[in-house]
Amino acid sequence: MGRDPGTPPFAWGATDRRRKESAVIDDEATVLAREDVVDAREEAAHVREDAVHLREGVATSREREICASEATQAASDDHMLMLQQANAFLVVATIEAQKLTEQVEIAKVQLEQTKLEAEKANLAKSNFLSGMSHELRTPLNAILGFAQLLEAGSPPLTDTQNTRLQQIIKSGWYLLDLINEVLDLAVIESGKLSLSQEPVLLIDVMNECRAMIEPQAQQRGIQFDFLLCDNTWFAYADRTRVKQVLINLLSNAIKYNREHGTVSVACTAPTPEFIRISIKDSGAGLPAEKLAQLFQPFNRLGQEAGNEEGTGIGLVVTKQLVELMGGSIGVESTVGVGSEFWIDLIRDGAPRLATGHTLPADPASKARENTALRTLLYVEDNPANLMLVEQIIEGHPHIRMLSARDGHLGTAIARAQLPDVILMDINLPGISGIQALEILRKDPVTAHIPVLAISANAMQSDIQKGLEAGFFGYLTKPIKVSEFMEALNLALDVSESG
Ligand code: MN
Repeated sequence: MGRDPGTPPFAWGATDRRRKESAVIDDEATVLAREDVVDAREEAAHVREDAVHLREGVATSREREICASEATQAASDDHMLMLQQANAFLVVATIEAQKLTEQVEIAKVQLEQTKLEAEKANLAKSNFLSGMSHELRTPLNAILGFAQLLEAGSPPLTDTQNTRLQQIIKSGWYLLDLINEVLDLAVIESGKLSLSQEPVLLIDVMNECRAMIEPQAQQRGIQFDFLLCDNTWFAYADRTRVKQVLINLLSNAIKYNREHGTVSVACTAPTPEFIRISIKDSGAGLPAEKLAQLFQPFNRLGQEAGNEEGTGIGLVVTKQLVELMGGSIGVESTVGVGSEFWIDLIRDGAPRLATGHTLPADPASKARENTALRTLLYVEDNPANLMLVEQIIEGHPHIRMLSARDGHLGTAIARAQLPDVILMDINLPGISGIQALEILRKDPVTAHIPVLAISANAMQSDIQKGLEAGFFGYLTKPIKVSEFMEALNLALDVSESG
């Protein structure tokens, strides 16, 4: 048997072929199916991967959520903490504020107390000074009073005696000036000085000052050059205080001048609102550094060892007075040439009503002419003062003097003896002079008798109080014999005509 070499060893019949074909088809389908399976598997893998991703995503987002919630929690915790802290701060701040308020309250109370204490201390100082002034004036009254009597007595004194006596008198009046200045300063500083401001005709005041100061100038050989104010110029001021200020400046210009120097006084109107009075001396002058200290109390600019008396208070008082009246004070000085002080006072129109007292032209004349015996009752507890007035009266034979040591005795003697005039001390044992006056006023028998107060209580307020109580006049100790006689004669005059 030979085989066709080209013939495959195996041949398929038709059925086989079909079989073979179907097998191929089967194979192809299988391949395809297998591919499909692979695809599906791949797909599944993808899906799985996606799922994993998703799961991861979910996990991440959950983590994020957790983180976020944790962050939120943390943030809210932070917030809470901050709030708590803020709250704590607020509580602390509130407590601090309360503490501060309490402290402020305490400080307020303390301030009030301090103020009260200062006021008390000021009042005590004021009372002390007025008391001291009274205590100093009382012995000074005897010293100056008897010295004045010696001066006018007979037989006349020898020259040596007279020189010594003049020293006593000069020092006595000087001591009185000191007392007055200290008292003035105390009153100004306590804010108790009451000014009575009114239109003041300056030419009048200047003339009065000139009359008072010229004897002093003549003693020192000082030439006075007075350029008076226009006779229509009024200042709005306290007349007494203007006079005090001018006298102080004028006497300084004399004191601190050279021998045979000059003092020029001038009156100008630098502005329409003010009138200026300037006082120029030809003294040594002051360097700038001393000018600055001029208005300080108790600063005598190195004059302590010098010949000139003074407390160094005068200019301080002067400045305060001028300023209290709404004016100002100034000074210019050139060493070796002299100093010029000026004061500016508020200018005022003429007063609308002339308010002149209608006193008799010469109050003493009538009493002097009348030689009928007059009776004076002096109510005084101080023996030296009693003796002084007794001896002054001795020089006037038409007056006889009765005396009483206290107010009760005084009013009893007044009722019994009906004196023409009563001289009444204020500080008396038992009832005061003011109370005694009240008794005299209430009794129709004694109501008409003029009563003159004579007291060492010399503050302006004391005088005011005395005059308001109804005294005919108020004399302060130490007395000037001439002024005392003038007041007494005036009272006698009124008593006679009444
Ligand atoms: Mn007395």
